[in-house]
Amino acid sequence: MSVSLSSQGASVARHVAHLDPSRAAQVLVLDARGAAGGATGRNGGQINPMDCYEFEDSIEENGLDEALAERAFQFAGKDEMLRYVASRGIEADLRMGGQAVNWFTAGERAAGESAHGTCLRHAEQCGDPSCGLSETLDAAAAEERMKSPDLLGAAFLPVGGGVWGGRIVFGLLEDAIERGVTLRTQTLVTSVERADHLTWLVHTERGTIRAPHVVFATNGYTNTLVPELEGEINAYRNQVVITEPAPQQVRMSISLRHGTTGVMLVAWLTGVVF
Ligand SMILES: Cc1cc2nc3c(=O)[nH]c(=O)nc-3n(C[C@H](O)[C@H](O)[C@H](O)COP(=O)(O)OP(=O)(O)OC[C@H]3O[C@@H](n4cnc5c(N)ncnc54)[C@H](O)[C@@H]3O)c2cc1C
Repeated sequence: MSVSLSSQGASVARHVAHLDPSRAAQVLVLDARGAAGGATGRNGGQINPMDCYEFEDSIEENGLDEALAERAFQFAGKDEMLRYVASRGIEADLRMGGQAVNWFTAGERAAGESAHGTCLRHAEQCGDPSCGLSETLDAAAAEERMKSPDLLGAAFLPVGGGVWGGRIVFGLLEDAIERGVTLRTQTLVTSVERADHLTWLVHTERGTIRAPHVVFATNGYTNTLVPELEGEINAYRNQVVITEPAPQQVRMSISLRHGTTGVMLVAWLTGVVF
């Protein structure tokens, strides 16, 4: 069995190795770069299970049942990650201090209050951890907690936090390797094709591998190996800018949603965890 790649790949490899230890030695993880060399090794590390903004958007797009199911899925993922980090004693710089979205404008405050209201309205159905934990902070409370006099308030959900994602991937890979899985880094897969109905040929810059199963965990680059996904998955470059609080017109022109996305990008880069 051959498994491509990185955090999802590490997770699949570790899972297979635990599910059937007798076949762990047949699992191969390939990565064009190093372990956790993709987005997982360089992201902002925010543990951000569905916040009230996303919950509200999801209800609008998919209906309440779907939004609740998606929310439960995200929280279960977070809980599983915390359980795994604790069980392996991974030093992943885990901090569960909650997450905040700061409001600099009346529009941001209105959007935040609406999302907060949505969480509270559905608190009973949300289950545990409850949407009822959502809080809003007025300007004075936000200034005290965020140390900024410019805020009109903030939304705060105490279930989020921050983590060093790359270290969790190292932990998953160590776990898998201990059970016999092989990791090959600096190995670019150039194409994958069927040899026959039982076997795949995985062509790499270092040779060709025959495998009965291939898992693509190649994130935004999957369409380079699976042409059917051309147009469905596309990799884009983007730029992140850190500034002093900028005028509203500038902030709104570079952010995606009510001005908050720009603020979150700053938090990603500075590693701020509230
Ligand atoms: C700037 C930034 C900040 C982010 N911040 C957060 C955050 O705060 N919180 C959060 O939850 N999420 C965040 N994310 C999203 C999160 O990082 C990704 O969703 C997650 O890491 C994806 O994991 P993955 O294993 O699917 O992909 P990746 O970690 O990208 O792994 C894909 C791997 O595939 C390899 N690969 C690709 N093509 C080939 C090939 N042909 N041959 C061999 N190897 C190949 C790559 O080298 C890479 O290592 C952020 C993302 C970015 C970019």
